[in-house]
Amino acid sequence: MPLSLATPIAEVPGITERVAAQLRELGLVNLGRLLAHLPLRHEKIEAETSVAELLPDRIGCARGEITATRVVMKKPRPRFEAVLIDEGQRLDLVWFNQTYLRDKVRPGLRLRVQGPVKRFGPGVQMSNPKFDVLAEDADPPSTQARIRPVYPASERVKSLVIEKAIDKVLDLALPLLEEHLPEPLRVAREMPTLADAYRLIHRPQNEGDAEHALRRLAYDELLMLQIAVHLKRSRLRLELQAPALAATPEIDRRIRDRFPFELTASQNEALAEITPDLASRTPSNRLIQGDVGSGKTAVALYAMLLAVGAGHQAALMAPTELLAEQHLDSIEGILKGSRVRIALLTGSTQNEQLLADIAAGKVDLIIGTHALLAEQVRFKSLALAVIDEQHRFGVHQRATLREKASDEKSTPHVLVMTATPIPRTLALTVFGDLDVSVIRGLPPGRKPTKTRAVTTDLRPEVYDFVRERLEKGEQAFVVVPAIDSMSEVPMSDVGSGMSDVEGKPSEIRHPKSDTSDIRHPTSDIKSVRDLVRELSAGPLAGLSIAPLHGRMNHDERQRTMEQFRSGTIQCLVATTIVEVGVDVPNATIIVIEQAERFGLAQLHQLRGRVGRGKKSGVCVLVSDLAASKAAEATDAQRRLQLLVDTTDGFRLAEGDWELRGSGDFFKAAQSGRTPLKVADLFRDRTLLDLARRDAMEWVMRSPRLDRPEEALLHRRMMKAFGTTLGLVVVG
Ligand code: ADP
Ligand code: MG
Repeated sequence: MPLSLATPIAEVPGITERVAAQLRELGLVNLGRLLAHLPLRHEKIEAETSVAELLPDRIGCARGEITATRVVMKKPRPRFEAVLIDEGQRLDLVWFNQTYLRDKVRPGLRLRVQGPVKRFGPGVQMSNPKFDVLAEDADPPSTQARIRPVYPASERVKSLVIEKAIDKVLDLALPLLEEHLPEPLRVAREMPTLADAYRLIHRPQNEGDAEHALRRLAYDELLMLQIAVHLKRSRLRLELQAPALAATPEIDRRIRDRFPFELTASQNEALAEITPDLASRTPSNRLIQGDVGSGKTAVALYAMLLAVGAGHQAALMAPTELLAEQHLDSIEGILKGSRVRIALLTGSTQNEQLLADIAAGKVDLIIGTHALLAEQVRFKSLALAVIDEQHRFGVHQRATLREKASDEKSTPHVLVMTATPIPRTLALTVFGDLDVSVIRGLPPGRKPTKTRAVTTDLRPEVYDFVRERLEKGEQAFVVVPAIDSMSEVPMSDVGSGMSDVEGKPSEIRHPKSDTSDIRHPTSDIKSVRDLVRELSAGPLAGLSIAPLHGRMNHDERQRTMEQFRSGTIQCLVATTIVEVGVDVPNATIIVIEQAERFGLAQLHQLRGRVGRGKKSGVCVLVSDLAASKAAEATDAQRRLQLLVDTTDGFRLAEGDWELRGSGDFFKAAQSGRTPLKVADLFRDRTLLDLARRDAMEWVMRSPRLDRPEEALLHRRMMKAFGTTLGLVVVG
């Protein structure tokens, strides 16, 4: 068999069976996989000298034998010290706060060390040096500085093993790499060839090399993603049809008359973009972005009524039962006395009769949760599917809803509403197959909510203030991270973040940024139960306080919400279940306890629960940390400060994104949907724009990507993104 990228790793010349076994452990089962195992970063290795030749106040590199070590447990910075001897010369090594090194750096071992050199008594010292333990057969000292790749490795399979293996096979492998970019495009974009890119990233000669290589590999990835996205759109256009939902002036007037308010200019602009979509037989896919309370639902309802008016059905899918119930309430209110037949389809309401009615077209407007996606749900004629709070649902869910139209060639229009603003760059990738409309600002008469961040010692004052306002007839939310002090993982009941796209929409995971903050024992976490007890015994004694959380059953929850809406309950102590959609205009105060435990997107959503009526809202973020944007502030502190500084969700999203490169917004939106291995949406923003334009033109020229010269690119694209984007199934 001639050598190819598919050659099993053990059969590649130069790879021993022992090394092959190690590489297989990391999934590097063949030559191609090994080549595609990219360095995490590159390290500069200085030219090596003897210890005698080390120069103070420079970065030095030397090798020698460890003769003695000790741990010094001195506060505040315990340290680990070692003595390294080279040709009778002594180099003192010290590592601060890394006493665990005692198990790695032992007398008798030979080490190569690199770090800042300082004069130390009569000799020299290196502090916090990087080091390699040298094997018997280690390479001789290199007299020239070089750049060395550091690979993703494991405890058992070290980066060095991978480095050596790649170094051995690289010259054999590079000629096997087929180029998939047309030469003129590659040259125009000033990209290295694929083979050059792999050579430069595995074996850079200088710092620029790796960057040059990364640019090409990231571009490839983004280009393929964007081509995939545009192919999907073009296929939708070419193969499927949606019902044309025309708005005549008469229909328009009848719908508008239903609303108890005039639509705002911003809502009308969104509608002006949506209605032509709907009037066409081309299935549309549109994202409506707008801050919490900006009036997205009103716009979506307009579109749903167009569908119903044209004799079809429309469905609205919400992420939680609570929110679905609330949509039902408000929509029933608006449609009271009309002939539109509305039904609620959730896990609790689902039954044979309801399913039969939906299939027979006896219901026009179906509001529900992900129960709508169940196999047995069939529509008579679904013309429009509206998905609320997109970040909780994935592309797969959208595709599933699409397939629910009655016959094969017909598919509904899809509108996606999200209150989690997504920076434009992200919208173009993650939601790249969607058109985007934005509703800016809030309906008239709203006053922006004031946000204050306070430290825990001010809690008494906070609750004095809450008491004062409650006694004036206003209402409050108090939000805590857990249901009871036994809850293992705080917030797990309701979903602090996003659902895993591959999993069920109801399985909610924590954003990574939050779990990393949670190191304390669970007893430190404030719970609904504790707080109800604390507040009714002390600060809010005599007022009516009730819990609300995801472990209450549907009826209990419903009853509590009704009592809160009617004002019988003055203060709700809740988990993040109130995060989305709870709409009680008389609620003016929200206190969020242990605010540092919530993500930014979440805090913003929670804040949106108040200030929905005529009175302005107040949001108090209570935490052990002081809000700050100082350079040394932690992520959590900066998040708090951002919230105090702005109520505009879009600015918040951009700010958060810039702050950390990838904020919660980013994670929530990106989760599971773009398996980007090389490209980083933040770092490679400009590259993404470039790739997007190139992809658009490409698909315009070749709407099916089926020319022979495109076969290789097509195959690689399908492999990378076919499944994620549902390209295999139509939709
Ligand atoms: P979103 O879904 O974007 O969070 P909603 O559509 O639920 O916002 O609207 C929030 C609140 O504002 C609702 O109580 C709704 O009745 C009200 N509302 C929506 N549009 C307008 C408008 N044009 N004028 C006045 N109130 C409005
Ligand atoms: Mg909403």
